Amino acid sequence: MARAYNFCAGPAALPDEVLFQAQEEIADWHGVGTSVMEMSHRSKEFVSIAEEATQDFRDLLSIGDDYEVLFLQGGASSQFSMIPLNLLGDNPVADYVNTGQWSKKAIAEAKRYCDVNVVATSESQNFSTVPAFEDWALSDNPAYLHYTPNETIGGVEFDYIPEVKAPLVADYSSSILSESLDVSKFGLIYAGAQKNIGPAGLTIVIVRKDLLGKAKDFTPAMFNYETHAKSGSMNNTPPTYSWYLAGLVFKWLKRQGGVSAMAELNKRKAEKLYGFIDNSAFYANPVEPRYRSRMNVPFTLADDQLDSVFLKKADEAKLLNLAGHRSVGGMRASIYNAVSENAVDALIAFMADFEKAHG
Ligand SMILES: *Cc1c(COP(=O)(O)O)cnc(C)c1O
Repeated sequence: MARAYNFCAGPAALPDEVLFQAQEEIADWHGVGTSVMEMSHRSKEFVSIAEEATQDFRDLLSIGDDYEVLFLQGGASSQFSMIPLNLLGDNPVADYVNTGQWSKKAIAEAKRYCDVNVVATSESQNFSTVPAFEDWALSDNPAYLHYTPNETIGGVEFDYIPEVKAPLVADYSSSILSESLDVSKFGLIYAGAQKNIGPAGLTIVIVRKDLLGKAKDFTPAMFNYETHAKSGSMNNTPPTYSWYLAGLVFKWLKRQGGVSAMAELNKRKAEKLYGFIDNSAFYANPVEPRYRSRMNVPFTLADDQLDSVFLKKADEAKLLNLAGHRSVGGMRASIYNAVSENAVDALIAFMADFEKAHG
């Protein structure tokens, strides 16, 4: 069997080892005689799978006991509403930073519940940078500040954690577990699983315990973090198979040396690819170098008439899913944890050949 190199932004590549382990266990998990998919979520077998995955995730990011880790459904997009519903309390104001398409969606949703103060935006620069922190127009007393550390579509990533008084809320969907993270600087971190964690259908929320307990009265029970915190994320049937697979990914990450080892590898992969693009007159990346994403690398060809040929040839070479997001066009290579350095090398070799033939 030939596995292709997959540069999909999400659902994204999973480690081969994880898929083969899942294959081996698919019909009979550890001699129980059933698949994980067929187990009661309340069985001792599944509870052990869930607890071990949760502990491994806590270990990987050194998450303190003052944080809850919730395994939810509804995607990162549901968090755009859950965050204001749960964290505003009586405060009518929340601060948001606008650095791209995902920030914008979070802002649009929050506007249903509060006065959104957009403290800074890079929209006029076509989202090719992060607005300078000194220029942010912070509110005096917002309920929280929300930002998107890695904009998956624009390929823009913060290289620092903002220092603000309000609880910091971050959409880490596309960069969680790509490097070590000082969780204690945050009030809440969330991530849809399908980029850097596991399969779609699972969303992880890390929330500081003191922020719980002030959800608005009309918050649906399933949208209230407390419901999930009190029930170990088992108020209703959780996404059991995704949780299990995420657990296999966490074990794999530990075997690789954890997130600091991944950070080194991710840095090397990104530097190679951006270095190649910058040295070429045929390919270009529009993002200010300091803020280039280590996970999502958008690039354009000198002649966009060649885009479809590029994608077709790439597919033939088993380099898959390189089309940019439908809202921006061009190309994008997502090089998450599970995308190996060999995959990046193969992509660069292909791009060099393509440039020779068409440049
Ligand atoms: C993919 C993505 C989302 C949306 O995730 P869903 O799970 O599809 O709702 C939100 N924010 C960021 C940064 C993303 O990359």
